[in-house]
Amino acid sequence: MDYSAKLDEALNKLHEEGRYRTFIDIERKNGQFPHATWRKPDGSEQPITVWCGNDYLGMGQHPVVLAAMHEAIEATGAGSGGTRNISGTTVYHKRLEAELADLHGKEAALLFTSAYIANDATLSTLPKLFPGLIIYSDALNHASMIEGVRRNGGAKRIFRHNDLAHLRALLEADDPAAPKLIAFESIYSMDGDFGPIKEICDLADEFGALTYIDEVHAVGMYGPRGAGVAEQERLMHRIDIINGTLAKAYGVMGGYIAASHKLCDAIRSYAPGFIFTTSLPPAIAAGAAASVAHLKHDNSLREKHQEQAAKLKLRLKGMGLPIIDHGSHIVPVMVGDPVHTKALSDMLLENYGIYVQPINFPTVPRGTERLRFTPSPVHGPSEMETLIQAMDALWSHCALNRAELAG
Ligand SMILES: *Cc1c(COP(=O)(O)O)cnc(C)c1O
Repeated sequence: MDYSAKLDEALNKLHEEGRYRTFIDIERKNGQFPHATWRKPDGSEQPITVWCGNDYLGMGQHPVVLAAMHEAIEATGAGSGGTRNISGTTVYHKRLEAELADLHGKEAALLFTSAYIANDATLSTLPKLFPGLIIYSDALNHASMIEGVRRNGGAKRIFRHNDLAHLRALLEADDPAAPKLIAFESIYSMDGDFGPIKEICDLADEFGALTYIDEVHAVGMYGPRGAGVAEQERLMHRIDIINGTLAKAYGVMGGYIAASHKLCDAIRSYAPGFIFTTSLPPAIAAGAAASVAHLKHDNSLREKHQEQAAKLKLRLKGMGLPIIDHGSHIVPVMVGDPVHTKALSDMLLENYGIYVQPINFPTVPRGTERLRFTPSPVHGPSEMETLIQAMDALWSHCALNRAELAG
């Protein structure tokens, strides 16, 4: 067996399809986000503005978060020193779980090393707890949910994205006595559209199903205390399991589920992805807890975030650029082919110091390749102006289509 040739084959396939991923080497500077330094392959450096990060509110450099992390490092050192079961549960983990349970108005919360693991571990474990469980999963669910559903050995039904009639038809076709769970997201990160939470909860009630929502792109940013879209729509109590991340708007790392005490206890006891891995470092837990606590009270960052997104969408629309606008904070500009998307991204970076990663197939369907901007409260007016001017110039340079402007 020529192992090396096999690896070449696998890698060349990606190159041929234009899907080989190149990472941009960037260094964030404390207190200066969204400004950062790009370390180019030739060894030189260029200052850039990050326009595609998930540190949506700039909490990754917030003094409250950093202070809590410094304090925990001074108090306890670097790592947790074990799995949750074997010497790795600390006051910091318990405090964070209490903070998260309170955030979502649930009896309990369970911490994982990431929201990816939280989704994968929980969804792959549920059929062990509810034998015969059928999972109804939105077609555009995140890879971590797909993975958890795929390898759990249970039955699955994929419903067309946000298609309630299709979901109903699938529910109707199954044994009324079978245990069921509907898994979906509150905000889908590629289009920035919302899941129909109330309608899905209604269907779940009608068919006796549990509900599982991924609020990863909403926690910290939506709702009066930052608990997400379900909080904003006063529907949190109707969701059985809420999944969130501590790595995006909360700016640190880690993921969790919030649910009943009994459900968290069962996942804690049965999910290998929770049991057999070292718990988060105490400093990470401390920083995340400080971030969650801060955003429960500080509405100003949330409001500024929405204002910034609205402003950017208005400006891009004003130039006739084809953006998708579902009213969320995510700003996708449709380019429609991988070559132009990559070219725009390259020119923005090289010529204007604007970093936005191209989004290509298979992350999005072919023909919908796009640039996805994530404005934040720390992107100032001059950064916004530079971006608008650059997009205007490059759109013309590439001779891409614009919408007819009204008036
Ligand atoms: C980013 C993301 C995750 C994974 O979150 P991490 O904490 O980064 O692992 C899960 N679900 C969705 C929808 C995401 O976009």
